[in-house]
Amino acid sequence: MRTSLVAGNWKMNGSREQVATLIQDLLPLLRDLTAKVECVICPPSLYIPQAAELIRSSNIRLGAQNVANLVVPAFTGEISPLMLREFACKYVIIGHSERRVLLHETDELVAEKFKVAIEAGLVPILCVGESQEQMQSGKGFARVKHQLQAVIKAVGITGFSSAVIAYEPVWAIGTGLSATPEQAQDMHAQIREFLASEGPDIAAEIRIIYGGSVNAGNAAALFASADIDGGLIGGAALKAADFSEICHAALRMAE
Ligand code: PEP
Repeated sequence: MRTSLVAGNWKMNGSREQVATLIQDLLPLLRDLTAKVECVICPPSLYIPQAAELIRSSNIRLGAQNVANLVVPAFTGEISPLMLREFACKYVIIGHSERRVLLHETDELVAEKFKVAIEAGLVPILCVGESQEQMQSGKGFARVKHQLQAVIKAVGITGFSSAVIAYEPVWAIGTGLSATPEQAQDMHAQIREFLASEGPDIAAEIRIIYGGSVNAGNAAALFASADIDGGLIGGAALKAADFSEICHAALRMAE
């Protein structure tokens, strides 16, 4: 049985005050979540120490939104996975489409980041997903498969034994246009089947979460699908009540 995971990607939102308020609002709302759902917040890196302190001794886990692809000191502006570990991060989002598109992160660079993350003991949340054009021309899974193959080339299928995959169709991110549960389930099943061809046990155990305009209203229907193990949440993660409702939708499915 896979433990559901709901992760909030706060992107470049927040201030010291907003981080404190959001976490203080989340703490009582998420207190009753059982071990059947893992709930993660991923604030901007500057606020990771503040968030770590505020969630200490709670059931909320911490993640980062990015990590360097090399662990070398001469790398101005980057953050190493060891630094993230020191500040209590368990997870790191890797290969978010905003970074792939806006910063031209290639599949190979993303795979390098995945490798340094697992070597440091972080759990990567690897984002994969196709553009609208690729989806419309029937090349959605081909794009996702290429993204997965780049990681397999770098770390082998065993690299996925301590990882999470987030299927995030680019056309659904921040658009309010979520994939339907059927569309998402179809892609998740293809991802699992592809991984099973390389390592059946790993494929059966890996959590594949869905991201792209998940909100308090559509989460339950998405999470009801057999291969959807939770969500990566953007906009709705910034509202404590909505994020809590999404986490509780995952809990109800798990029970
Ligand atoms: C995201 O950026 O990872 C995301 C899923 O955003 P949203 O939920 O706002 O579509």
